[in-house]
Amino acid sequence: RTTSSAEGKRVLLAEPRGYCAGVDRAVETVEQALDKFGAPVYVRKQIVHNKHVVETLSDRGAIFVEEVDEVPEGAIVVFSAHGVAPVVHEESAKRNLHAIDATCPLVTKVHQEAKRFARDDYDILLIGHEGHEEVEGTAGEAPEHVQLVDGPNSVDKVVVRDESRVVWLSQTTLSVDETMETVRRLREKFPSLQDPPSDDICYATQNRQVAVKAMAPECDLVIVVGSRNSSNSVRLVEVALDAGAKSAYLVDYAKEIDSAWLDGVNTVGITSGASVPEILVDGVIEFLASHGFGSLQSVTTANETLVFALPRELRAPRKANN
Ligand code: SF4
Repeated sequence: RTTSSAEGKRVLLAEPRGYCAGVDRAVETVEQALDKFGAPVYVRKQIVHNKHVVETLSDRGAIFVEEVDEVPEGAIVVFSAHGVAPVVHEESAKRNLHAIDATCPLVTKVHQEAKRFARDDYDILLIGHEGHEEVEGTAGEAPEHVQLVDGPNSVDKVVVRDESRVVWLSQTTLSVDETMETVRRLREKFPSLQDPPSDDICYATQNRQVAVKAMAPECDLVIVVGSRNSSNSVRLVEVALDAGAKSAYLVDYAKEIDSAWLDGVNTVGITSGASVPEILVDGVIEFLASHGFGSLQSVTTANETLVFALPRELRAPRKANN
């Protein structure tokens, strides 16, 4: 990438952005499973919520299904980064599937918390988005104890059995500020509400929001690269607007950018969700450069170094061909 000044029009690049450790591991899991076992490799749900990633892996021989009953008996199935309820493991075992679990370890951590508080007979208020796969997986650990709280406006209808035994947990990819508002209202209603043992909103979600908050006040336009079903990407658009960006849009690809968005714009900020490969950001940078936005500057608020080991099935050394 080159940096050159063009008529005061500039691009700010939020850092960190893009792939988190959990997504990197999940995508690598499918790639390595294809290398090691050969196509097809079945994947339950989108491995991560990104159109480009899913299309690229499909081209390599991954077959995406909604449920394990669509997978032929005895085949390999990868569970997505968002996690699965225990019942999915049971169904997969019944069909003799070879399951490789690409659930992000930070999602697994929330599952463990749900199990622990359910064992101690707490009412668990799970803050998250209705219908999101991660929430279905976490709630599935303790369906009798978990109730979903989908944002601050859902607090009124929450009813618990014993107000002294209530804990909140959350989806990993929420808006930090909105979640704190939900917790504030829950605590007004249930003063002895317990906090999770550690942050459930993951480091990657938090870091991407902090970076976009630092960048947004200077931006006439913020372009967030990400898919519509990606919770953390959608949150980045909201956070950008809340933090003072004059406009903000979500796009899967540079070709979705409407040139009219650039009218009267001097500073464009770019960020991308945790499931977005950098090549898609490069496409946006090139598009903007071709529209006179040649000057590129990073806005860095953290450096990420976290890496997760691959699932155990893929860690064994490969057999040598002789
Ligand atoms: Fe894991 Fe967070 Fe990435 Fe989700 S966004 S895969 S919880 S690191």
